[in-house]
Amino acid sequence: MQTQKRIAVVGSGLVGSLLAIYLRKAGHIVHIYDRSPDIRQIQFSGRSINLAMSNRGWKALDNVNVGDAVREIAIPMDKRAIHLVDKLNFQNYGQEGECIYSISRGSLNRKMIDLAEAAGAEFFFEQKIWDVTLKEATLHIGETERGEWEEKKYDIVFGADGAFSRIRHRMQRQSMFNYSQEFLNIGYKELNIPANPDGSHKLDKNSFHIWPRGEYMLIALPNLDGSFTCTLFMPFEGENSFESLKDRKDVEAFFEKNFPDSIDVIPKLAEDFFENPTSTLVTMKCFPWTYKDKIALIGDACHAIVPFYGQGMNAGFEDISVLYEMIEKYGDDWVTIFSEYQKSRKPNADAIAELSYRNFLEMSSKTADDKFLLQKKIEKWFSDKHPEKWIPLYSRVTFSDRPYAEALAIGDYQNAIMEEVLKLENVEAIWNSEEVESKILDLLNKEATVQN
Ligand SMILES: Cc1cc2nc3c(=O)[nH]c(=O)nc-3n(C[C@H](O)[C@H](O)[C@H](O)COP(=O)(O)OP(=O)(O)OC[C@H]3O[C@@H](n4cnc5c(N)ncnc54)[C@H](O)[C@@H]3O)c2cc1C
Repeated sequence: MQTQKRIAVVGSGLVGSLLAIYLRKAGHIVHIYDRSPDIRQIQFSGRSINLAMSNRGWKALDNVNVGDAVREIAIPMDKRAIHLVDKLNFQNYGQEGECIYSISRGSLNRKMIDLAEAAGAEFFFEQKIWDVTLKEATLHIGETERGEWEEKKYDIVFGADGAFSRIRHRMQRQSMFNYSQEFLNIGYKELNIPANPDGSHKLDKNSFHIWPRGEYMLIALPNLDGSFTCTLFMPFEGENSFESLKDRKDVEAFFEKNFPDSIDVIPKLAEDFFENPTSTLVTMKCFPWTYKDKIALIGDACHAIVPFYGQGMNAGFEDISVLYEMIEKYGDDWVTIFSEYQKSRKPNADAIAELSYRNFLEMSSKTADDKFLLQKKIEKWFSDKHPEKWIPLYSRVTFSDRPYAEALAIGDYQNAIMEEVLKLENVEAIWNSEEVESKILDLLNKEATVQN
């Protein structure tokens, strides 16, 4: 047990509320501030981004015994349902029993705040943090940026205030603070597939649905009430873009041509399209994440990534697992806790940022590419035969808690091997032959020899 501190967490999002549970477990007084009203009191529209929760997220939840409460609001998805223009393919995510889980962000956030409150954390909503004095861990809170501010002093402040963090904003003004922010030229918009009249799902409930179409794609994740939340990812400008779909006729014609099997299941397509906002996607990197033993950034506040690996929240939850490991290791030495935390997490945050960006290319174009599908088929077949020799990249990221940086490095070398295999003559016909198997084994042995 550590010496008790007064700790403020800025941001009652998914990461801030789970962090509060951990800090309570370590015996601290925890106050959480959020500029928004209490999400539990707000009329819920029923529409919300769904998140895919995987191993890293579950591990962080289970460590403080809240995983089962969250499982109650989660739907397992064991496969991708790939909607091509003229056919539907299914592709399992991992081995038998391996799933990712669809959870509504709103429901999850409500639950996390309830759980943090039950653990003894105190929440302060509609409290905007405008600034922080780093040396004194003092928050500056007020109605408006130029109005009166109240000061609240703490022993430690955590910035869990998301991609556009005010706490980071203050840290950025120090010298030697590195920062980069890059927007994709692709935006996203939510659409909705309602439930059937009897409450059942209109599409397979246990699949992550994808309509891959090159530069743009549609995805759909199941909700508990029988509906699906769809997200359309598409360039802002150009031939097939948000800008090019100007009116109801354009939208309906675009969907009829490109997503024909979605037409019957999205009844309010044009209404949703024009009512719902088009949002941006950003990758943000920065370093350092901490200031002495006073301030630490966590979650999207220090590593915002594009959502194509479904890992943003999972990575934020893993930050908390690692922070807690350091707490257990270094006791009251918060300087070391913070420096070891950022040292451990930064390379992994960079790796998942890279993997997420690459996965956009994979999901949008490659899932419709015959060569890519063949590669995945060979990998799956080989990995089933030699599970100790070949864990596919997706499984390393999603179904394990080994470092993301390791997954990236091993994924690159597996890809190099597969490039060689795909050069074999007539590989389409002999993909599951002894020849292919021994080629992969040879290449793996060569790599092992080089590494030794
Ligand atoms: C389209 C999309 C799909 C995604 N899908 C997935 C997925 O499938 N799986 C996954 O793991 N991740 C996914 N993510 C990423 C995930 O949403 C984020 O990584 C996660 O929400 C980060 O949580 P956070 O608590 O760090 O930040 P946030 O959720 O951004 O929370 C920040 C909180 O801080 C508060 N705040 C901000 N500024 C202030 C201030 N000045 N004063 C007081 N309070 C403040 C905000 O009100 C908010 O409550 C997705 C993201 C997007 C955009």
